[in-house]
Amino acid sequence: MFETLKKQPADKILQLMLMYADDPRDQKIDLGVGVYKNAEGVTPIMRAVKAAEKRIWDEQTTKTYTGLTGDSAFTGGMTRLLLADAVAPEAISAVATTGGTGAVRLGFELIQMMKPGGRIWISDPTWPNHIAILNYLGIEIKTYRYFDAETRGVDFDAMMEDLKGAEAGDAVLLHGCCHNPTGANLNMVQWQEVADLLNARRLLPMIDIAYQGFGDGLEEDAAGTRLIASSVPECLIASSCSKNFGIYRERTGMLMAISADTARKPLVLDTMATLNRLAYSFPPDHGARIVATILNDDALRADWMAELEEVRLSMLGLRQQLADELQRLTGSDRFAFLAGHRGMFSRLGVSPEIVERLRTDYGVYMVGDSRMNIAGLNSRTVPLLAQAIVDAGA
Ligand code: PMP
Repeated sequence: MFETLKKQPADKILQLMLMYADDPRDQKIDLGVGVYKNAEGVTPIMRAVKAAEKRIWDEQTTKTYTGLTGDSAFTGGMTRLLLADAVAPEAISAVATTGGTGAVRLGFELIQMMKPGGRIWISDPTWPNHIAILNYLGIEIKTYRYFDAETRGVDFDAMMEDLKGAEAGDAVLLHGCCHNPTGANLNMVQWQEVADLLNARRLLPMIDIAYQGFGDGLEEDAAGTRLIASSVPECLIASSCSKNFGIYRERTGMLMAISADTARKPLVLDTMATLNRLAYSFPPDHGARIVATILNDDALRADWMAELEEVRLSMLGLRQQLADELQRLTGSDRFAFLAGHRGMFSRLGVSPEIVERLRTDYGVYMVGDSRMNIAGLNSRTVPLLAQAIVDAGA
């Protein structure tokens, strides 16, 4: 039977990681996979995470199953972190998932369940796994233009024009903040226009927010999500704790479904619990318990927020340093957009040939669409990268 299997398309980012590992050059720079690294190139365990794990180790008395929706201390804490008081608690159904990917997958499945044969609009470009999962589930994809290749900002007019082609009942996937792969984001005026369009055309928004705290701050990064959640009758929100708590391998995420018709909550929550049951029964608990411990303890929460802020500011500093260095080398503001982008990623906006030259001639590894992980840099490698970008002909 196994002979019937077909080779699956390789994951380009994971392939790039392998090539980087095989490169013997000392000067090589890894800007590929989306993982935060400090100036020493290490992905550290955050102080509050270590402290929470120690507390869990001391205090946990059982490893029996949790509920299908996960621990309510986790879903409650995360709901407040994401939405503050933007939406009444009675309107929110939330379940713990296996990372942000699990939340995205569950959200897509819920959409498919609610509207078999329905369509989902995604930004062009988007995180490639969105496309892969939608294809796997057989959900029809429509794309809206998003990135302006000239300014490297959001092409908002094109985005709105394309979304005007959506029909009532279509779903629209939006990145809550720190758009992956471009780094270009909507401002609050644009979020409001998107909310108005969603309402006017009766579209269902699904927000994927995987980088809260990595852009402009914890509150600021949630502002677009809060605006949508409080403006539309129904929406879905998939969130991840992988990046902002640095617990990538613990697989911690959450799916929220919000309905202004609060009488729907029991059915919505029960359906989401059933989707967890069908996929893997109970969601993983260790990461969720770390997050709940931190969010529900004033001292741990304050320490986590302070460390997250250091991480955010270090990435902003690297962005500014790179933009300044390229300004110095080229004598132009062509690369000023790098300081304006937010989050871990920026799309440099150069051809695949230049991306290839950067890798072969300069040992700079970025994804083929010229997405760079800014956190893969440090103050020593920024000038090397800037020089390589200019020398490679960008
Ligand atoms: N959504 C987006 C846009 C992402 O970039 C990521 C991480 N690469 C995820 C979801 C999922 O993250 P995880 O499953 O690691 O929590």
